[in-house]
Amino acid sequence: MNAGMDATLEDKSVGFIGFGNQGRAQALNLRDSGIKSILIGNRSDGYLSQIEEDGFAPVSLEQASAEADLLFILVPDEVMPEVYKQHIEPNIKPGTTLIFASGYNITYGHIKPAADVNVVLVAPRMIGAAVRERRLEGRSVPCFVAVHQDATGEAGAIAQAVAFGIGATKEATFEVTFKQETFLDLLSEQAVYPVIIRTFVAAFKAAVEYGCPPEAILLELYGSEEPAEVMKQVAQKGLLGQLSLHSRTSQYGQLKGFSRTEQLGVEAFVKSVLEDQIANGSFDKEWLGAQQQGDAVTRQLEATDLSSLLTAEASLRERLYGGK
Ligand code: NDP
Repeated sequence: MNAGMDATLEDKSVGFIGFGNQGRAQALNLRDSGIKSILIGNRSDGYLSQIEEDGFAPVSLEQASAEADLLFILVPDEVMPEVYKQHIEPNIKPGTTLIFASGYNITYGHIKPAADVNVVLVAPRMIGAAVRERRLEGRSVPCFVAVHQDATGEAGAIAQAVAFGIGATKEATFEVTFKQETFLDLLSEQAVYPVIIRTFVAAFKAAVEYGCPPEAILLELYGSEEPAEVMKQVAQKGLLGQLSLHSRTSQYGQLKGFSRTEQLGVEAFVKSVLEDQIANGSFDKEWLGAQQQGDAVTRQLEATDLSSLLTAEASLRERLYGGK
């Protein structure tokens, strides 16, 4: 058994509901950590051949729910309440530990487990493919862990041991609440990334108007992968610590620009997203309503007018990556 996992998980039967991005990566990592009994519950389509190819036992969602001491619930958040109601809730036994990778459905009350089960969160802070890759490279997988319900008195120890089992180290495991995980996740998605994307689009439009070639603008903004490199340095050296990697002109310009953008109202926007969309539950209501009217994501995509940027992107990708 993996160092750090201790006896908490020994002899526990582990079930997975879902074998997608997170399900596959976490199941493979747990098996590498020494967990022997792993049942993969999946609908009999989609990922079935992958489950068998990976050497796991595919079973029904009901069987995985009934036999598991520890049950990972790793289907998309939007379908999770229905999957829980139909396939999980009627079959789990008292004392089961339900393990979520997202706090969303518990935070907003779409799933309300009975009081006799443990409810924990082990949420990797990265996409599933990277959860697996990091483990194979011997690198740690940073995780949030939380306990919502402790029916057996060992929920906290199980959450910690599961985090180790899927690849986190003690240093890379951060205790939060379900609500905090949910709010932080949504804050990045609804405030931080939109501001970054809006800024890219604004810079593209301004530079096109100024006569710069569209592909060159996108190469400068993100096509070269330089921002991805810079963000990696930010993570490792800090927001200001990484500045020394840039020219003095760049450092001065970045710092001056940072103080000038104080006037833009970004702080008020971010705060209002947190308070008026996320914490008060209005985004959750909006999202539920939007899903009931069909493919809400496609409708949002159709409402964005980025055609000239997308044309330039396609042409840049063709040039740099042969269109892949
Ligand atoms: P995926 O979209 O990859 O999940 C796919 C799996 O869910 C497949 O096994 C699929 O089965 C199954 N599934 C889909 N719809 C249904 C349904 N209606 N009934 C039964 N099974 C269904 O999910 P993720 O791995 O992306 O997300 C899982 C959890 O992890 C979520 O809570 C998410 O928020 C969280 N998370 C995700 C991250 C990510 O990087 N994606 C990062 C951190 C947390 P089939 O083969 O039959 O299609």
